[in-house]
Amino acid sequence: MSSTNISASSQWSISEVLKRPVPGRVPFSVEFMPPRDDAAENRLYRAAEVFHDLGASFVSVTYGAGGSTRERTARVARRLSRQPLTTLVHLTLVDHTVEELEEILRGYAELGLTNLLALRGDPPGDPLGEWITSEGGMSYALELIQMIKNSPEFSHFDIGIASFPEGHYRAGSLENDTRYTLAKLRAGAEYSITQMFFDVEDFLRLRDRLVAADPVHGAKPLIPGLMPITSLRSVRRQVELSGSTLPRALEEKLLRAANGDEEANRDEIRKVGIETTSEMAERLIAEGVPDLHFMTLNFTRATQEVLHNLGMAPAWGAEHGHDAVR
Ligand SMILES: Cc1cc2nc3c(=O)[nH]c(=O)nc-3n(C[C@H](O)[C@H](O)[C@H](O)COP(=O)(O)OP(=O)(O)OC[C@H]3O[C@@H](n4cnc5c(N)ncnc54)[C@H](O)[C@@H]3O)c2cc1C
Repeated sequence: MSSTNISASSQWSISEVLKRPVPGRVPFSVEFMPPRDDAAENRLYRAAEVFHDLGASFVSVTYGAGGSTRERTARVARRLSRQPLTTLVHLTLVDHTVEELEEILRGYAELGLTNLLALRGDPPGDPLGEWITSEGGMSYALELIQMIKNSPEFSHFDIGIASFPEGHYRAGSLENDTRYTLAKLRAGAEYSITQMFFDVEDFLRLRDRLVAADPVHGAKPLIPGLMPITSLRSVRRQVELSGSTLPRALEEKLLRAANGDEEANRDEIRKVGIETTSEMAERLIAEGVPDLHFMTLNFTRATQEVLHNLGMAPAWGAEHGHDAVR
């Protein structure tokens, strides 16, 4: 069987999934990271089962910065796709030549993984540092999309991209950011998933900018990326790594919950964090988003708590059949 047949028979393309009418409020999808070891990999599969049972529209697997996690991306994505879950596999340009990127795409296609999030990636070691194009490699995600779309071997890939509600930290201006994002959509990307954000206005303004600049390509599905807030420490870390902003008012709200002792008041902080993420999601649903994409860090609890608050999942808890791992 050819790779194209495998993918056509076993996997929906995400762009088709986004057009499919769904029962319930709004579809949701989840992001996983390649696990570090076998135990973590098994936990991830259990988490995937939970999200499968909750009706996730698709799952994505990120692409790491180094060798073994990169291999795990393909292996994990393949296993999830057989679960069966519509699976989106990420790919970055970091430390790759054009030939290596082609080889990876060939490998993905052979595994039936043709839903691709085409990304540049961050400079290794310093996510916010200067990008240096590797020898024989590419400089922008746009080039990867163009290469895929111009190649008969890969043109069946269904491509998504990253977009940035606050603008990418290296774009220089929101105008540039809009231009570069649109270039990727015009080159053949079908939808975008946003970086995490904590002010819904930023997401809505990105959507407005894209549609105003190009009513056709700018109106392609824009999926909000949501990182459920579970602690001050983790949200600060995520914000630092992603280049997003933690709004002052939200930080103050979390600090009030901490009441001077983050450790002693962990549960209170978490409660406020999950409520905040749920309120953001509620507003996004009211604004007609096509999907809610949860960055899970391979855990189920926080995402399920948010989904429960939205009326989209049963409550999380031991009495509902969850074990400590989940
Ligand atoms: C949903 C999502 C998933 C992600 N998954 C991963 C992952 O799995 N692995 C990982 O390592 N990282 C991941 N990232 C992080 C991402 O790789 C970084 O944010 C990266 O810095 C930008 O990637 P990009 O694909 O948007 O790059 P690009 O579109 O190539 O843009 C990179 C920078 O160049 C600028 N630019 C674009 N075109 C031009 C041009 N023609 N001239 C000048 N400047 C230009 C852009 O404004 C931006 O500043 C993800 C991000 C998001 C939002």
